[in-house]
Amino acid sequence: MKIVILDLEWNTAYYRSEQRFINEIIEFGAVKLNERLKVVDEFQMFVKSRVSKKLRGMVKALTHISNEQLQEQGKDFETVIKAFNKWAGKNTLILTWSNTDLYTLMDNCRAFLGSREIPFLHQYADLQQYVQKRIGWAKGNQLGLSTAAEEMGISSDDIDLHRAKGDSLLCARILQNCYDKTAMQSYIQDADEEDFYDRFLFKPYPITDIHSPHIQPEDLAFDCVKCNRPLKRMRSFRRCNKCFESQFLCPDCNTGYVGRVQVQKLYDSVSIQRTLTETDQPIKANPRKRYRRKRSASSVTVDKTPVVAGDHV
Ligand SMILES: [Zn+2]
Repeated sequence: MKIVILDLEWNTAYYRSEQRFINEIIEFGAVKLNERLKVVDEFQMFVKSRVSKKLRGMVKALTHISNEQLQEQGKDFETVIKAFNKWAGKNTLILTWSNTDLYTLMDNCRAFLGSREIPFLHQYADLQQYVQKRIGWAKGNQLGLSTAAEEMGISSDDIDLHRAKGDSLLCARILQNCYDKTAMQSYIQDADEEDFYDRFLFKPYPITDIHSPHIQPEDLAFDCVKCNRPLKRMRSFRRCNKCFESQFLCPDCNTGYVGRVQVQKLYDSVSIQRTLTETDQPIKANPRKRYRRKRSASSVTVDKTPVVAGDHV
């Protein structure tokens, strides 16, 4: 399988016919690597913009691309896509640094070709994600391309950064530095699979209804850190920010806790984060409680008190 590393430059412009802003792609740049990761070919094409003929100052300053250059040398989006498709060839793994380029590409395909499907995309992997894992990037922020190069001691002095081809070349050097065929396998997504685009475009969201079927009673129950016994929940859960919070008391050792549960809906699963913090605050039962109902055979009871203050559940 060949590897093609693709990088795009774009210009944000107001797209009148859809009444929204769009990141209009203005340049495609890519390098092709053989099995031994040697750069064997390069690709560069400007896209003649149709939404806005004027580049934003920031884009001009960053890329050094001029309005004249785009209009004179650029081809229309469809032509560039076709040329890239032909150049990339079959049985190609496409890599981009972070999936932002892919979002932008899908959006441009949808806006200008009428379908979000990317004609040349069959196998895809997010190189940023792969590299972050490989070098053990533990910081919360996303690893920038230049930072990755610096971290790995890779020189970019001879590369035209912030230009599509230059950035893809730097990506190639980074990949050469930390490539492992087996490790890469788990990052490869099959773009021909039916739900690839739905899955890719799905945005995880916090579940804010505590009665959601995605939340199980055991997700809301905690054990005492000290004696391992099930804690007694003293109040109904209330929503704070994106999580549910309540107070708990250990019937054995009398330790008070604040328990928080955050539930996020992912494409085909939910992610649950739970924290239990000891508290010195006096734990009192919910004053507004009217009735309780056993929800299941487990030790958890869930209050069915109707929502009163908006944030109480
Ligand atoms: Zn205890």
